[in-house]
Amino acid sequence: MYPQTHFLFPFFISAILVKLNVLSWKLALASGIVGVLIDADHYVEHIIRAKTNKWSLKATWNNSAKLHRFYQRSFIHHREGFLVLTLLFIIVLFFSWQIALAKAIGYYSHLLLDYVHLKKKKYLQFKIGKFFVKESWFELGFDFFLVVGIVIIVLV
Ligand SMILES: [Zn+2]
Repeated sequence: MYPQTHFLFPFFISAILVKLNVLSWKLALASGIVGVLIDADHYVEHIIRAKTNKWSLKATWNNSAKLHRFYQRSFIHHREGFLVLTLLFIIVLFFSWQIALAKAIGYYSHLLLDYVHLKKKKYLQFKIGKFFVKESWFELGFDFFLVVGIVIIVLV
């Protein structure tokens, strides 16, 4: 999934919780940012594994979006990361359950989106400058649904 989806999904969930007076808008925004930042490990893995263009964000992006020359997910996307971050959220829980909840929504929603494999048949492919984009129509539709949902939540 692309960064905008990793932002919109936790932000959508958190926006509902804002309306239920569980979270603040600031924490809802933080949950979306956490959702995006989980994939920062792709850049770290790229620096470690790439043979050329080690520090290139473009090369990291294109490997992730199209080329798939090597696996870019680190432990944070797997069981070890799940356990470490769950422990971290439990620790944060003692200081602020709302911060723990916002960060947990960002992280777990990210894993859910990464590991739910739906059959995606049609893709939209294009380039923005030298950055490849290959996004499924399903994901675009899901993004649209989330944006509409967020607008409705904000307006209600
Ligand atoms: Zn990911």
